[in-house]
Amino acid sequence: MIAVLKPGVSKQQMENLIMWFKGRGLDVHISEGKYQTVLGLIGDTSKVDIDLLNGLEIIESVKRISDPFKSANRKFHPDDTIIDVSGYKIGGGNFQFIAGPCSVENHDQILEVAQGVKNAGANLLRGGAFKPRTSPYDFQGLKGEGIELLLEAKQKTGMPIVTEIMNINNLDLYEQVDVIQVGARNMQNFDLLKELGHTGKVILLKRGLANTMKELLMSAEYIMAGGNEQIILCERGIRTFETYTRNTLDLAAVPMLKELTHLPVIVDPSHATGMARLVKPMAMAAAAAGADGLMIEVHNDPKNALCDGAQSVTPQEFADIANRVRKIREVIQQ
Ligand code: PEP
Ligand code: MN
Repeated sequence: MIAVLKPGVSKQQMENLIMWFKGRGLDVHISEGKYQTVLGLIGDTSKVDIDLLNGLEIIESVKRISDPFKSANRKFHPDDTIIDVSGYKIGGGNFQFIAGPCSVENHDQILEVAQGVKNAGANLLRGGAFKPRTSPYDFQGLKGEGIELLLEAKQKTGMPIVTEIMNINNLDLYEQVDVIQVGARNMQNFDLLKELGHTGKVILLKRGLANTMKELLMSAEYIMAGGNEQIILCERGIRTFETYTRNTLDLAAVPMLKELTHLPVIVDPSHATGMARLVKPMAMAAAAAGADGLMIEVHNDPKNALCDGAQSVTPQEFADIANRVRKIREVIQQ
């Protein structure tokens, strides 16, 4: 349920109303926008008398929200959420490139790629340390050592880092990690999501291989229910009957999600297509569709990459992609 307050309501009046809701066992999510304040009521609202609320002097309107996701719902929070990662903003018209290798392989590789993507205009560095691989015989990542190497790259380049978590028992290793990624395979690892809800970390939540947008939003809701509202959603392709591409990039998810939620939405064209040559057109298309950022896999030597080489572009190719995306953004902002 949402209650939209009339303009000019005093702080005291608002607090009295919030106390009244809390007295009825409801949690109140406050969204103070430019023009109006919206109170989102979370919990069992079935016993709240809508007519009584509508009759209050300070209330403009009251609506029941039937969507199962509340905190993530744009109706609760009409303005875009802007996520600030060390001064780099994502959402609300702010766009960032997150680039780097699928996995951190060694010291020279991550430092070279970090410098390369930075020179090409990326602001955030990605790199997997704990890798969810389909085969247990494939490279599983450098784990703690991988995070150490990312931190060294962060220190040398000044770029905030994004890396995936697979097991909450490793959370201590992520203390200096700027953005914790929840990968497609863990999108519905509810225990992991709940724990991340108690951290103050920015979470990059990727859509599962076979999950609906509603399920993605419900997963965001798990994190938000714990008090952490710093979430970036990522469309990374879903599994369909098509086999030429690794996944099918659901670009309509970008405007659809942005209608449903105030959280920023970025696109990963690398996992979505599985092919380096398709990354550029899909990156441009994602920007044109209104994405708040892109996450792109970049490797200094894609042919010899330990993971996802076929979909990795070189730093030079990334520079060209970034330039074209910037041009697309200029056009759509006109
Ligand atoms: C990744 O970003 O390297 C990754 C494993 O992505 P996804 O979870 O989307 O497959
Ligand atoms: Mn990958």
